[in-house]
Amino acid sequence: MKKIAIIGGGAAGMACAVHLLRAGAKVTLLERGERLGRKLSATGNGQGNVTNVHCSPAHYFTDDREKLARLLSRCSWEDCVRFLEGMGGIFLPDARGRVYPAGRQASAICDLFRTELEKLHADICLGAQVQNLTYDGDFTLAWAGGHMRSDAVVLAAGGKAAPNFGTDGSAYALASSFGHTVTPLSPALVRLKTDPALVRGLKGIRVDAGLKVVRKGNICFECRGDVLFTENGVSGDAVFRASSYAIKGDVLEIDFLPDVDEARLEAALARSGGSLLCIVPNGLARVLLKRADGGHGTLISLLKRFSLPVLGDCGFTNAQVTKGGIPLSETDENLQSLKRAGLFFAGEILNVDGECGGYNLQWAFTSARVAAEGILLQC
Ligand SMILES: Cc1cc2nc3c(=O)[nH]c(=O)nc-3n(C[C@H](O)[C@H](O)[C@H](O)COP(=O)(O)OP(=O)(O)OC[C@H]3O[C@@H](n4cnc5c(N)ncnc54)[C@H](O)[C@@H]3O)c2cc1C
Repeated sequence: MKKIAIIGGGAAGMACAVHLLRAGAKVTLLERGERLGRKLSATGNGQGNVTNVHCSPAHYFTDDREKLARLLSRCSWEDCVRFLEGMGGIFLPDARGRVYPAGRQASAICDLFRTELEKLHADICLGAQVQNLTYDGDFTLAWAGGHMRSDAVVLAAGGKAAPNFGTDGSAYALASSFGHTVTPLSPALVRLKTDPALVRGLKGIRVDAGLKVVRKGNICFECRGDVLFTENGVSGDAVFRASSYAIKGDVLEIDFLPDVDEARLEAALARSGGSLLCIVPNGLARVLLKRADGGHGTLISLLKRFSLPVLGDCGFTNAQVTKGGIPLSETDENLQSLKRAGLFFAGEILNVDGECGGYNLQWAFTSARVAAEGILLQC
């Protein structure tokens, strides 16, 4: 049996290790941090949104959509749930199709993985940031204070988003040293910045709203979901989804009452004499009434088309995922490198990013399984 090294003890690395160990492979899991799965523990606002019942290629961005469709078809959301429940626990979808552990604790998912890896006698090396990866017939991996040789390597070291979880983008260089390219990187699922004056007084207000991204008068994305106002912009799951499309110069148009048409709203305002009580939260009402008084639009337009020009995003530090990475076109059908046989990829390091709602962990688990299957074919 071949010796396999997995670089990165996040969602993809741990899942890949479990698949390989269950098949009897000899695996060493190398993680630069002092704990496995730190980012996984923080997912879904600490509740762990592991997949989505609506999973399909339409919810992802990549350089090779057809290959992505083939890859996703090898691990459905139900397969993902079966895999997780195979380690323990119960996973259930909510009304919007987002799947969580019934106990709603992301850290417990990490505990499932750690327990399973222990049970399978995984060789886990913590505090090992692989800095050098070379090939001379076998792979050699080196880190401060250690090195090892292996027959195959899975590079599952994540992207550049949320560097406080150990992912600062430095691992792309390990792939580049074999001739891989990296597509342009940008933060995704991230808060958007706007002029602080335009959101003054709204900080902390969360609404279920319709959200459009408007570019030069044309709508380039629209969705429905949470919008949370911050000091200098907007956050929330609708904004995270919009962040995959919005660029500086676009305008976010917020509909605070997506279930109410303008005629009904006009009638309600006529009855209430312009009061917004029981129409929007009081804090939001105060700001909108002041804006309308100040001649910044009619109440109806402020309620249905509240406009915020996008000044940019809040950067990799605040992003949940990385857009861009190692192109899928540089891998085979099992995510093996087309530049160096024996080198496999899994997770966010690849040029695949999903919308908000569990799609990124589904990708981490799918790609982990595909890479494991590819390795096992060669063992
Ligand atoms: C706050 C937050 C909330 C999120 N919520 C959700 C959610 O609810 N649902 C969802 O689907 N997605 C969510 N995501 C995204 C999701 O967590 C990631 O897409 C997913 O974790 C990627 O898995 P990965 O294994 O590829 O990378 P990671 O989980 O980032 O793991 C990579 C690991 O590799 C290690 N590493 C890096 N370089 C080296 C090296 N050179 N040597 C050794 N180890 C190395 C890192 O320390 C890290 O532990 C969230 C992300 C964040 C930041």
